[in-house]
Amino acid sequence: MRVFDSIDFSSPADIRSVQDKLLAELIGRVGSTSLYYKDVFRKNNIATNKIKGVGELPFTTREDLQRHNWDFLATKRISIREIVSTTGTTGEPQFIAMTEGDIERLAYNEQRSFTYTGAKEGDLFHIAVTGDNLFIAGAAYYRGLIRLGAAVARVGPQNTIRQFDLIEKLRPSAIVAVPSFMLHMARAARELKINPKELNIKKAVLIGESIRDTSLRSNALGELVEEAFGDICYSTYGITEGQVSFCECGQKEGLHSHPDLVIAEVVDEAGVPLNDGETGELVLTTLQIEGMPLIRYKTGDITFKITEGCKCGRNSLRIGPIIGRKKQRLKIKGVTLYPKTIENAICKLKDVVNYQIEAVAGENQSDRVILRVGSLRTDKAFRDGIIENLRAKARVTPELEIESPEAINKRLYDGGARKAIVFKDVRKAGKKD
Ligand SMILES: [Zn+2]
Repeated sequence: MRVFDSIDFSSPADIRSVQDKLLAELIGRVGSTSLYYKDVFRKNNIATNKIKGVGELPFTTREDLQRHNWDFLATKRISIREIVSTTGTTGEPQFIAMTEGDIERLAYNEQRSFTYTGAKEGDLFHIAVTGDNLFIAGAAYYRGLIRLGAAVARVGPQNTIRQFDLIEKLRPSAIVAVPSFMLHMARAARELKINPKELNIKKAVLIGESIRDTSLRSNALGELVEEAFGDICYSTYGITEGQVSFCECGQKEGLHSHPDLVIAEVVDEAGVPLNDGETGELVLTTLQIEGMPLIRYKTGDITFKITEGCKCGRNSLRIGPIIGRKKQRLKIKGVTLYPKTIENAICKLKDVVNYQIEAVAGENQSDRVILRVGSLRTDKAFRDGIIENLRAKARVTPELEIESPEAINKRLYDGGARKAIVFKDVRKAGKKD
C-alpha cells in the first residue's frame, strides 16, 4: 500500500491525478487476476489500458458478489490472511478475503478516520462493538487506533453494568459504539444513578446508524445520545465489502472519504452520476486492495455527495448521512421516503415506547405503510401529535395503530428474531398473493 500523506489537503486536481493512477493499477490487476472481472471486461470489450475514469466501467452489484463471491479473488489463495463477512441482513452474507496488505490498509484507513475526530496518542478508546464473528469493523478500530498510537480496551457489546464498571475503572477518553447502544447505556445509567456526562468521555465515534439528518444536523437519535452524553459525537460510516470507512471531522458537515483508498460516486436509478446534494445510491471503487477489489460497487445505501472543500481544509469528497437502504424505499401517494425518516419523526415523542413500521403492497404503485406505535396512551391528543410530527418531518401520514408496548415488542421479535424488526417489509409477499 502506498501512503499519500497530505492527499486530503491536496487540490482537487492532484487528488484526481492520484486516483487516476491508482484506478489504472486496479484495472490492470483485476483484469489479469480476478476471474469475475476478467469475464466482465471480456464481455464488455473493455481494453484495460484505455480506461480514463470510473464512469467508463460497468457496475458491480451485491448480487454479483453473492453469486460469484470467490471469483472476485484477485490474489492467490495462499496470500489470504483473514476472511470477514457482511451481516447478511439483506440476503446471503458475502465473504471478503483480505491479504496482509489489506489488513494494513484497513488499519491505515481507520487511523485516518480517527484522526479526523481529533483522536491522538494518549487517548484510551473503549470499544463497545463486536470484535469477532467475522465482523470487519471491530478489527479495523483495534488496528487503526494502535497504528495511531492510542490505547484500546476491547470491551465488546457486554451488558451495561460491565460497561460502566470498566468505564469507571479505566476512565477512557473516548468510546466507539452503535448509537442505539449508547441510548441503551443512557437508560441504564439513569437506573444506576450515573450521570453519563460525568464519566469524562470526550469523544464518541458512532457507527452503524445515522445520527444526522439531511441538513447534517443531529437527527432524533443523535439528539437523544447528545442529551445523555453531551456534544461528543462523531458519525462514521463503514462498509465491509469496500474495506473502507467515511468519518466526520470537527466541522461535522458530512463524512470524509479517503481519496487514495476509494473513489465514491452517487448515482440515480439509471446509474447516472448525480451532482452534489442530489440523493441516490452510493457506489464505491476500492483502491489499493489486493484480495477482493471492487469496481463501481453499488452499496444499496442512499446518500448524497459534497465535493466542495471542507472548512477543515480537506478537499476529499464527503458524503451525507445514509438516509436508508435502496431496497427499503417507500412510495406513499407520490412521496418517496425511507423507513428511517418515519422513525426519526416519532422516536423522540414523549410516551412513544416502541414502534414497528410495516410496508404492504398497495395500489397504483403506492405502498401501504402501517405505523404501529407502542404506548400506554391511546387518547386523541397523543394520536394527533404523532400524525402532526409525521406530516411535518416525513411529509406523509401512514396508517397509525396504537397498541400496548408488550404487543409491539412481540411483533419486533416475532419468530424469535435476534434483532428487533423495526421495518417489516411484506410488499413482495403481498404481490405474490
Ligand atoms: Zn472536514
